[in-house]
Amino acid sequence: MSDVAANLAALRSRIAAACAAAGRDAAAITLVAVSKTHPAEAVGQALAAGQRVFGENRVQEAKAKFPDLRAAWPDLALHLIGPLQTNKVRDAVALFDVIETVDRPKLARALADEMARAGRFPRCLVQVNIGREAQKAGIDPDQADALIALCRNEYRLPLCGVMAIPPADQDPAPYFRLLAEIARRNGLEVVSMGMSGDFEAAIAEGATHVRVGSAIFGSRPYPA
Ligand SMILES: *Cc1c(COP(=O)(O)O)cnc(C)c1O
Repeated sequence: MSDVAANLAALRSRIAAACAAAGRDAAAITLVAVSKTHPAEAVGQALAAGQRVFGENRVQEAKAKFPDLRAAWPDLALHLIGPLQTNKVRDAVALFDVIETVDRPKLARALADEMARAGRFPRCLVQVNIGREAQKAGIDPDQADALIALCRNEYRLPLCGVMAIPPADQDPAPYFRLLAEIARRNGLEVVSMGMSGDFEAAIAEGATHVRVGSAIFGSRPYPA
């Protein structure tokens, strides 16, 4: 068994245990395997071990890595989890199945225009800057409802949820709770939160998608 397969097996049991502890069905959790900085071979090992949903944070890196993988594994799904510049919207709509980082009206509009042009409609999440951190992407929590309404009503994006990364050095539970509440009050089904270090807490607070990188693929060769 590859390290990646062994790590995935261990991770799946931790997810199952966290679901059991929270009284939730493990089938309600989608594991997004974050493969940024790792080579296509590592992704191939995860695919061989049954993993199908992946996350990348850079459009260019995903474009270099995933078209061949997708040709070999047509049922894989790719999520964009990093910031998206409007000049990369065309590639993003062509490559990704879910865009988790819609965080401003200008981007929502560019995505809507490109989807209409390309006839391809990746589902979208609104990224919320849940800890109001200056260095982080995402819409301010106070403006999330308005951006969600704009995405739905004005731009008609296929919006299905919200995503956030809580502050690094604090108990993430209150932030996870706040993101789940934003999803609930807007009637959105997807709540993408939790990474290698905190996915159990995210599951306890209602995550439907956890984004896990290093616990599957090992530490990254460079920061991303
Ligand atoms: C890198 C990354 C992850 C995964 O982080 P790990 O700590 O390696 O599990 C999750 N979400 C986002 C947005 C990321 O950029």
